[in-house]
Amino acid sequence: MSQHEQQIIRQLQALVGTASVSSTDPSWDQGNRGVVELLAGWLGDLGFATEITDVSEDGRKANLIATLGAGPGGLVLAGHTDTVPFDEGRWHSDPLALTERDQRLYGLGSTDMKGFFPLAIAAARAFVDTPLKQPLIILATADEESSMNGARALAAAGQPRGRAAIIGEPTSLVPVRLHKGIMMESIQVTGSAGHSSNPALGVNAIDVMHGVLSELMLFRQELAQRYSNSAFEVAFPTLNLGCIHGGDSPNRICGGCELHFDLRLTPAAAAAGVRQDLEQRLQRIAARSGAGIALRPLVEPVPPFEQAADSELVRLAEKLTGHSARAVGFATEAPFLQALGMETIVMGPGSIDRAHQPDEYLELDQIQPCIDLLQQCIARYCL
Ligand SMILES: [Zn+2]
Repeated sequence: MSQHEQQIIRQLQALVGTASVSSTDPSWDQGNRGVVELLAGWLGDLGFATEITDVSEDGRKANLIATLGAGPGGLVLAGHTDTVPFDEGRWHSDPLALTERDQRLYGLGSTDMKGFFPLAIAAARAFVDTPLKQPLIILATADEESSMNGARALAAAGQPRGRAAIIGEPTSLVPVRLHKGIMMESIQVTGSAGHSSNPALGVNAIDVMHGVLSELMLFRQELAQRYSNSAFEVAFPTLNLGCIHGGDSPNRICGGCELHFDLRLTPAAAAAGVRQDLEQRLQRIAARSGAGIALRPLVEPVPPFEQAADSELVRLAEKLTGHSARAVGFATEAPFLQALGMETIVMGPGSIDRAHQPDEYLELDQIQPCIDLLQQCIARYCL
């Protein structure tokens, strides 16, 4: 093993060993500051200017922007530093101790996606003594796996601003230019309770919810007819009815009923403003029934992502990899970086099929091809 491979493995050992789980479950949730500080140290040693910005008030969560060179434009290599929670009992080795076996590096976050950083740093190392015409920026974010608050904070702050961004999520080094968005919504129907012997004494929220459910199922069919996109494995927008709660007693008119559902829209569906359409449909049911109907998000939505097929970055990645850009079934920080005005793709080492599960690993044979690919992209945008 070459010296530079050993250094990559040492760095990944340190990153995996610095736990940084992010979760909406507070008993799991940890900060990512330790990971960001490790990266800032290594990148600072290479001559990058590093800026760590708090994402949470207590400073446990932070983003890192590390910049080599100066000026407008340039290339951003981006990744998240947090991981999902893990089930230690189902791992065959310690998830927080990077373990090499069968030409693979096992460890929590090895592929999703701490492994990307040592490779991006190794790619950058070749350029540290070259004057760059446009900057190379390595971006490390917090909380991608939970709230995407790291990426949201960057979008709100308006930085970084490169010409192009590559997010190194595991795609087996195939360029990705499309994913769906994620919305999780609640519909609360508020009727009025009364004695069950006379329906006129109240407004039954479960009856009204029946109308809401019928409308949602019709809406779902219309979405599929209008906004399908064959680039996606599941070609149509999905709407999943997840849970429902209402009422308390057979002999009372039900006063309240709430439904939670998830909606995964294709870029075309989101652009067409289907949420407003849904809101109008619900208000028509409310007016007809006399019940109150409120639609509200359960979590901040993640927008869908689409980078134009004929954009410079997509064309470059397709040429360098020999793969046409495709769509994936998972959401990323791409829409937030794209909103900063950068052409954006998702392309990184390792397979998403290994992510979010016991015995997550990165194949050793992804390392050199990834470094080569990143160096070609850096040369194109920064020299
Ligand atoms: Zn990820």
